[in-house]
Amino acid sequence: MALKADLHLHSTYSDGKLSVTDLVPLAARRGLSILAITDHDTVDHYPDSLASAASNGITMICGTEFSTRLGERELHILGYGLDPTEPRLIRHIESVRRRRKERAHEILSRLNERNVRIPHDELEEVPHHKTIGRVLIADLIYNYGYVRSLDEAFDVYLGDNGSAFVPYSPADALKVIQLIGELGGVSALAHPSREEVEQCVDPLCEAGMHGIELWRPGVYRSTANAIRGKAHQHKLIFTGGSDWHYEGGRLNLGDFHISSSRLAPLFEMLGVTPGITVN
Ligand code: AMP
Ligand code: MN
Ligand code: MN
Ligand code: MN
Repeated sequence: MALKADLHLHSTYSDGKLSVTDLVPLAARRGLSILAITDHDTVDHYPDSLASAASNGITMICGTEFSTRLGERELHILGYGLDPTEPRLIRHIESVRRRRKERAHEILSRLNERNVRIPHDELEEVPHHKTIGRVLIADLIYNYGYVRSLDEAFDVYLGDNGSAFVPYSPADALKVIQLIGELGGVSALAHPSREEVEQCVDPLCEAGMHGIELWRPGVYRSTANAIRGKAHQHKLIFTGGSDWHYEGGRLNLGDFHISSSRLAPLFEMLGVTPGITVN
């Protein structure tokens, strides 16, 4: 029987709004059976999500969405089936956290010059596992009463053209793909645009990328065709998911799903049996 899967989800371990322990039972109620929570640059969500999956009849895959760079371009690389206790993975994640925090301090300094005064101590209060990114800083600007909405925080200060924007130099995409491969995981390019498919997939595949995200909400037919073409050329497997962050947005949890039969090649690589809660 085909089961419903969503392999690209965010929780409060990065910039999603639901905790893992709320997300997993909600997904079960909405009819999903196979999940991968793919919080940004972390695997800390996995132990909790695995426990919650076991008690909700869900098959859980360990996932991470790595922020990376290829040349000037920021690319997100999904890593599936990694061991969250692997020391090389933890070292990578810790170095990303350090750089994110340094950048966040720099953003607060720039905000301060624009009379948006948020104490730097706020960054020390953030729980260790939480991704320190622009979404978190947007929340701070809002909570301190400097803007009326998170969109305004991005429009005025934090967006790529905002007055306090500080670029973030994430990890090298090719190195991240190599690391995922060496650690026995499956790597896949997340939400590629058509341009990214045409310009980035070849070098990423040379570094050993295994797959590409094909199934997602609102993907253009022309982009999907380009993805299929490259996948055929490089023998890539397909992954997919909603990139859901919270309820009440563009789409709710469970509105989008992929039939497990389409994901068979991925599950085979991961050694996952859909329907079995503990793999
Ligand atoms: P960071 O990795 O810290 O640069 O933050 C990137 C995240 O900020 C993205 O994943 C989005 O969730 C969010 N973001 C970026 N630009 C905007 C924007 N203009 N409006 C709202 N959210 C945004
Ligand atoms: Mn996000
Ligand atoms: Mn992404
Ligand atoms: Mn995502």
